[in-house]
Amino acid sequence: MQRDCPRCWQPLAAEKQKRGLWNVTVDLCSGCGGLFLDRGELLRLTGNRPLHHLTTKHLGIDSDSQLLCPGCGGIMDAEHAAGIEFDVCLSCSGVWLDPGELEALQAVDAAELKELSPEKLAELYDAGQAVPGGGLLAWLFRR
Ligand SMILES: [Zn+2]
Ligand SMILES: [Zn+2]
Repeated sequence: MQRDCPRCWQPLAAEKQKRGLWNVTVDLCSGCGGLFLDRGELLRLTGNRPLHHLTTKHLGIDSDSQLLCPGCGGIMDAEHAAGIEFDVCLSCSGVWLDPGELEALQAVDAAELKELSPEKLAELYDAGQAVPGGGLLAWLFRR
């Protein structure tokens, strides 16, 4: 399926990125420089497992992104990691990164993301999902 940029609607072009042992084929927009990653590719490109979990099992259900997923057409959610905001598809866990965001995420320390943000915990709690680390109540009492 042809993938188009969710920001400027240019067709995305497959581009190989090498990171350590991995060769990852990402979809790059020549118009705005944005980047689409299929599920799992963010983990390969960053090696950051807590970051990967943010886009998979801790994804939640909120959609506060205007973008539609270039991979499956699903709605996307804006996720936050260490102050960086990026878009994740709620259906296929594909990730949309604007220019510079991949480099920024690659610089994020995995340890920094081990603890979920209060906003994320609240979102997961609303979604009825299991909240790690003792749950929302434990978090509330810790404040
Ligand atoms: Zn674009
Ligand atoms: Zn998708």
